[in-house]
Amino acid sequence: MPPRVNLGKCNGCEGREESFCEEVCPGNLMTVGDETMKAFCRNNRDCWDCMSCVKACPRNAIETRVPYQLGYCNATLKPFMGKNSIIWKCTDIYGNVKTYSYKNRLEV
Ligand code: SF4
Ligand code: SF4
Repeated sequence: MPPRVNLGKCNGCEGREESFCEEVCPGNLMTVGDETMKAFCRNNRDCWDCMSCVKACPRNAIETRVPYQLGYCNATLKPFMGKNSIIWKCTDIYGNVKTYSYKNRLEV
């Protein structure tokens, strides 16, 4: 499912020439509206749910709906990026929330 942008949280990455979500999208799908200064996916059908934009947003403004085959349209899966870890917050169709924390960097 394509990303959903929380318009209350997105600030268009003000001050940056290119927003974080634009920068990381491998399909060049994310963009910021000239007038709204809010991000959106310009072609939902081309999004393949890689979640790069979700993870890159510093304001946690983007979430991806879990595909219908895996859950239900109201289920969500959202990552919260830490410096060396990532926490996945899963909300099922009944509103039950579970979180999972993983290291996402190898220590050297
Ligand atoms: S990275 Fe987040 S805050 Fe920045 S434009 Fe995209 S959705 Fe908005
Ligand atoms: S989920 Fe991936 S392909 Fe889809 S808009 Fe975000 S970065 Fe682009």
